[in-house]
Amino acid sequence: MEQFSSLKDKIVLVSGGTRGIGYAIVKGFLNNGAKVALLGSRKESVGRALEKLKAENADYAVVGYYPDLNKEQEIKEMLEELTKQFHSSVDILVNNAGVSDAKSIFDYDDEHFSKVMNINVDAMFRLTRLCVPQMKEKGKGAVINTSSMVSLYAQGSGSAYPTSKFAVNGMTKALARELGKDGIRVNAVAPGITATDMVKALDQKIVQRMAANIPLQRLGEGEDIANAVLFLASDAAAYITGAVLSVDGGFVG
Ligand code: NAD
Repeated sequence: MEQFSSLKDKIVLVSGGTRGIGYAIVKGFLNNGAKVALLGSRKESVGRALEKLKAENADYAVVGYYPDLNKEQEIKEMLEELTKQFHSSVDILVNNAGVSDAKSIFDYDDEHFSKVMNINVDAMFRLTRLCVPQMKEKGKGAVINTSSMVSLYAQGSGSAYPTSKFAVNGMTKALARELGKDGIRVNAVAPGITATDMVKALDQKIVQRMAANIPLQRLGEGEDIANAVLFLASDAAAYITGAVLSVDGGFVG
């Protein structure tokens, strides 16, 4: 379903686009006529996502890559390839790749903490830093970061995860201030509990208890989050930057 005509022919890069929320975001942009490059961590998962999308609609303009998001050179090469493929650089960047965590602080070591921060924060900054120069040249661009409801009030374990998502909100607001004069808007969505693999891996008793406390009485779907991302990326949000939009059924508000 097409909702935002301003997204037609835009070049969109979605990290963590192979499944879950990211896959729904990729589909949302494609259904609005955008050209999309999805990123994943492995060749196989990227291949599977592309196959699934092409089976749904052979006309989708979609490509996929699997650079190591912690390696600047691999990202640069991917961006060159993408620009050749679509004959223009990225207009809209969706930083969605992320890992959650549930470890007790008593079980943490430096390596584990860094692993969460590396993908959720460092990789987000790196990808943004490498995409915004071309947006600045065009005089227009949008960056949308996937934060989380835990960025507003944390959670009872896995402290690296909320720590990383608080940082995502900080990065969103800092870059919105810095890049506004260049025509680049930077916003975030803060999903509540969304029915993806990440949530399916959690203890289902905890998930059900949380769902019962959601004012809208259900878990979020990938499409719920995608719709908010599409809005923030579109010209309908032309005067919105630095926002962290809760998409959580009213859970945090
Ligand atoms: P998911 O596990 O289904 O998908 C995660 C995506 O990130 C995958 O495409 C994966 O390839 C990618 N990814 C993970 N580690 C990577 C790495 N090291 N390098 C490159 N790519 C990597 O998760 P999801 O639930 O769809 O989560 C997507 C985003 O939404 C994450 O940022 C997550 O923190 C956030 N979020 C999810 C929920 C939820 O309830 N599902 C709630 C709030 C926020």
